[in-house]
Amino acid sequence: MPTSQPVLSVVVPMYDEEEVLPIFFERMHPLLDGLGIAYEVLVVDDGSRDKTAALVTDATADWPQLRLVRLLRNSGHQAALSAGFRRGRGEYLVTIDADLQDPPEVIADLLATARDKDVDVVYGVRSDRSSDSWPKRTTARMYYRLMCRLVGKEIPFDAGDFRLVSRRVVDAVNGLPEDGRVFRLVIPWLGFPSAEVAYVRAERAAGVTKYNWSKMFRLAFDSVTAFSAAPLRLATWLGLLGGLLSSGVVVAALIIKLAGRSIPGWTSTVLAVGVIGAIQLLCLGLLGEYVARLFQSSQRRPQFLVGYDSLEDPGHHSYAEAIEAQETDQR
Ligand code: UDP
Ligand code: MG
Repeated sequence: MPTSQPVLSVVVPMYDEEEVLPIFFERMHPLLDGLGIAYEVLVVDDGSRDKTAALVTDATADWPQLRLVRLLRNSGHQAALSAGFRRGRGEYLVTIDADLQDPPEVIADLLATARDKDVDVVYGVRSDRSSDSWPKRTTARMYYRLMCRLVGKEIPFDAGDFRLVSRRVVDAVNGLPEDGRVFRLVIPWLGFPSAEVAYVRAERAAGVTKYNWSKMFRLAFDSVTAFSAAPLRLATWLGLLGGLLSSGVVVAALIIKLAGRSIPGWTSTVLAVGVIGAIQLLCLGLLGEYVARLFQSSQRRPQFLVGYDSLEDPGHHSYAEAIEAQETDQR
């Protein structure tokens, strides 16, 4: 393994992927060699129970750029990506699934786009999802709609975890103190200049999906709770609504009582249920508001990230030049 910094790190999380490995090596190896740059392939073995780790170790014999990082136990796809971000040494870092659903040939396009357009993030965006099953497509669609709202930013629709980021982004992500990060939300949220490359997603090359329903729910749940305290505040709104409704019920119950049409005991029961219910929900909601504040401060996300500083740019290129260029444009 070369010790100098590679240009490209390809991070591949793997969980029980022994079936796909032979095809993976066969396709990746010549392709990455063909790029003509120094690279490393960082396989993060997410606590596989099959022969994944052993097969990767064997393969390092005739592929020196291959590197294996093993997690102690199955920690999930996003955690494996976090490990890759920490360990990857490249100037650029690409994350890709092991199952070859995202064609590795696109890696060259991602890199070229990053260099040509001088951006820090290049998203691989699926231009066609017909290879995914119907339930997967529908749930994915719902997920992206909701996430766009929560992050409050354009998050690239149908971008999974196939993307290239620069060292600046890797450092920014590693500097985030929060746990349980969802990369496809955190990276757009950081706000680095970005571009997209469209590609057609293929079928899984071998084996079956490693994302079961419980893992999909986990991802959706982490995504919502990492960006929104709205669920905590649900009780506040229900409490206000309950209060409004129960004041109507109180008036109605009193009128019925005064008209002498009520069964004994009914009025007091209705009043108690309505009023106490509303008070309880309101108090729960208040608790939620405080928990939400604690939660937000405990995330300790940076308030901002600096994109340019003239002090760090002694020749005053980039920004000054950009302004100058703008002025000449206008002339
Ligand atoms: N994966 C992982 N840990 C897990 C589940 C999945 O590292 O607990 C990896 C898996 O090996 C694959 C990637 O995450 O490289 C995406 O998983 P998969 O292709 O099964 O998901 P799908 O494409 O069906 O959403
Ligand atoms: Mg897949």
